[in-house]
Amino acid sequence: MDNNLLKLPVIPLRGVNIFPHMVLHFDVGREKSVAAVEEAMSKDQKIFLVAQKDAKIEEPSAEEIYNIGTICYIKQFVKLPGDQLRVLVEGEQRGKLNEFIEGEAMFYGEIKVLEDIPCEDENVCEAYKKSIDKAFDEYLELSGESLNEIFTELEEEDGLGRYCDIIGAFLMLKTDTKQELIEIVDVKERLEKLLVIIKNEIEVLKIEKSIGTKIKSKISRVQKEFYLREQLRVIQEELGDDDEENNEMKQYEEKIHKSKLPKDVKEKALYEFNRLKSTGPGSQESAVIKTYLDWILDLPWNKLTKDNLDLKNARTILDKEHYGLEDVKERIIEYLAVRKISKTLKGPILCLVGPPGVGKTSIAKSVANCLGRKFVRMSLGGVKDEAEIRGHRKTYVGAIPGRIIYGMKQAGYKNPLFLLDEIDKMGADFKGSLADSLLEVLDSEQNSTFRDHYLELDFDLSKVMFITTANSLEGVSRPLLDRMEIIEVSGYTTEEKFHIAKEHLLPKLLKEHNITADKFIFQDNAISTLVENYTRETGVRTLERKMASVIRKAITDLVENEKELITINGNTVKKYLGPIIYTYDDLDKEDKVGVVTGLAWTGYGGDTLPVEVTVMDGDGKLQLTGQLGDVMKESAKAGYSYVRANAEKYGINKDFHKKKDIHIHIPEGAIPKDGPSAGVTMITAMISALSGKKVNHKVAMTGEITLTGRVLPIGGLKEKSLAAYRMGIKTVIIPKDNKKDLEKVPKLVKSKIKFIVADKVEDVLQNALIGEIEDGN
Ligand code: ADP
Repeated sequence: MDNNLLKLPVIPLRGVNIFPHMVLHFDVGREKSVAAVEEAMSKDQKIFLVAQKDAKIEEPSAEEIYNIGTICYIKQFVKLPGDQLRVLVEGEQRGKLNEFIEGEAMFYGEIKVLEDIPCEDENVCEAYKKSIDKAFDEYLELSGESLNEIFTELEEEDGLGRYCDIIGAFLMLKTDTKQELIEIVDVKERLEKLLVIIKNEIEVLKIEKSIGTKIKSKISRVQKEFYLREQLRVIQEELGDDDEENNEMKQYEEKIHKSKLPKDVKEKALYEFNRLKSTGPGSQESAVIKTYLDWILDLPWNKLTKDNLDLKNARTILDKEHYGLEDVKERIIEYLAVRKISKTLKGPILCLVGPPGVGKTSIAKSVANCLGRKFVRMSLGGVKDEAEIRGHRKTYVGAIPGRIIYGMKQAGYKNPLFLLDEIDKMGADFKGSLADSLLEVLDSEQNSTFRDHYLELDFDLSKVMFITTANSLEGVSRPLLDRMEIIEVSGYTTEEKFHIAKEHLLPKLLKEHNITADKFIFQDNAISTLVENYTRETGVRTLERKMASVIRKAITDLVENEKELITINGNTVKKYLGPIIYTYDDLDKEDKVGVVTGLAWTGYGGDTLPVEVTVMDGDGKLQLTGQLGDVMKESAKAGYSYVRANAEKYGINKDFHKKKDIHIHIPEGAIPKDGPSAGVTMITAMISALSGKKVNHKVAMTGEITLTGRVLPIGGLKEKSLAAYRMGIKTVIIPKDNKKDLEKVPKLVKSKIKFIVADKVEDVLQNALIGEIEDGN
């Protein structure tokens, strides 16, 4: 490649352009432009910015952009809500777009660097500069603009080319006039052009001024504005640049009158429109007003979709789109039934709680399908600032509405199904105002007049159906909980996963990859291999990802080797994905001393929690290492005291606390766990280690303990038993008071696992330790 040629990501600019050495900040929202910024940031931060000929075009083609622009350096960028970026760039050099490549993800360009052609006749150029200096002084005086900043820049200037660029950038000019200056590389020509431009501007300013003085005393302010505008229009018409602006104004006016805005909204729109008419075209202020008007005009103030409350239809859709989840579906049908008989009754907000990948989002989407409502989703994960929900005030530079209003615009209707995802993951520095805003959004008493800071108008959210999701309810505030009805969506058994994969994920993925089943045979054992050997999660998200990966590899195989048909079985999966990750005999294969399998529950579902204890000669130290939270440490200590108090009962030397050190270790797992339910596990491991009795490796347990050895109930039994089932455990010891929860445990799990209830530590030991335990009674 020619040394002077660069391959850079390109952003077509709308309504602005940038000169070399000028600093500019602007927002990018178009997907391709965001991708271009990210691409530049991953390389040398260089990007090519070039103006669009028509600012209204979303995706310009090569003909619709100018071919000379500026190679820029991205100094900074920040992420704004709604996938927008605010970028700060500095122009470096002119560049010519030799080739414009319309890539799928972003625009690229092959850019030729353009150097200025210096002045040959210095005297002539110097004369031009003097004339420009003079004209510019006059311009400043007439326009009343301040020149402090530009002055320092001008003093430091290092060449006449740059001098033109600095003044060109400063002048309030239309994009295409600026573009003309950008396109001139010959410095003498640029000086000449600049002089003409400034003189023109001076003429316009003079006429404006003379009109002003003449009529000042005669007409009222409103008339004056009108008159000035008319004059400006005539001037612009003469200069040949009025049509576009005028058309745009007419369009706004027409839209405001035609759209069926509520009365107060229309009044506000007209007020802003009048302000727009009195601001100069191309000014910063007019851009702000236009953006605001666009928001108002785009929002669905009173557009509604009609609800389909046919329960039969709902049931069919829910069953078609999701396997299992009977409780959830039933609850949703009830909810719809209530809505059907009482249209005004405002039902509670449903909150789907469960580990990731169990289908919370997708079932909410199905509900939208059943009802025939639009679906929008907003993730609250990491939201820290009230402004993200409620928007920034308009006075704030670059302000935009909050995400609720943004979602409403996306929906295009006033009654979408709005999914608020991950309400338990709202920013850690959860301030009062953030919680209040969310409450206001969800509260049917208040949300008919939801006020976004940017809009400064009430928006009616009362027709929206909100559904929320959370991984766990810990950390969700009480007032929020009070407004929601909780529906638990727990994990799946291996068999359920198999069905979901076969009947839902596979057809969906094949369709996404545009593959027909006649070319592609995905055998059942391929699915079982994926479920059993490559994933061990509560939901099916990793399963879906791995399946997609197998499909991609198979497509490559099909294309590369020109095959007609491809059959995927268990071995093909292993070939594509590499060595298997999990087997069902991951558990220790033998009974050991001091090693016990506990069961834990976190927001990510159930999991096993191995506890290891060793005993050494020493002087009674209790050492705790590995992944122990504060609660677990406390229950380890309580367990230790229990063992000390009851040593003899279990055939343990009662002086062990003077002569032995005990070390409890909980190996690090991927997800931190804490809670009191590891109590029985730790006691069993300690007693096993101290008494030398082995623990049955096919037994797992869960339960909190008291100092007197009672076993107290725990939470998450269903999740824990699913985890035990996944690990091939045969017996699970649970607290007696959790017996009633066995009802919620899937039948299949109950048929494979024997559940033993324990009231006291002895009951646990009897079933976990191999051999008789001594009974001191
Ligand atoms: P969550 O919101 O709970 O994290 P998702 O809704 O994103 O989970 O689900 C992940 C994927 O698994 C989606 O493609 C979803 O359609 C699929 N899925 C989950 N559960 C089921 C189910 N019971 N039947 C069919 N597909 C399911």
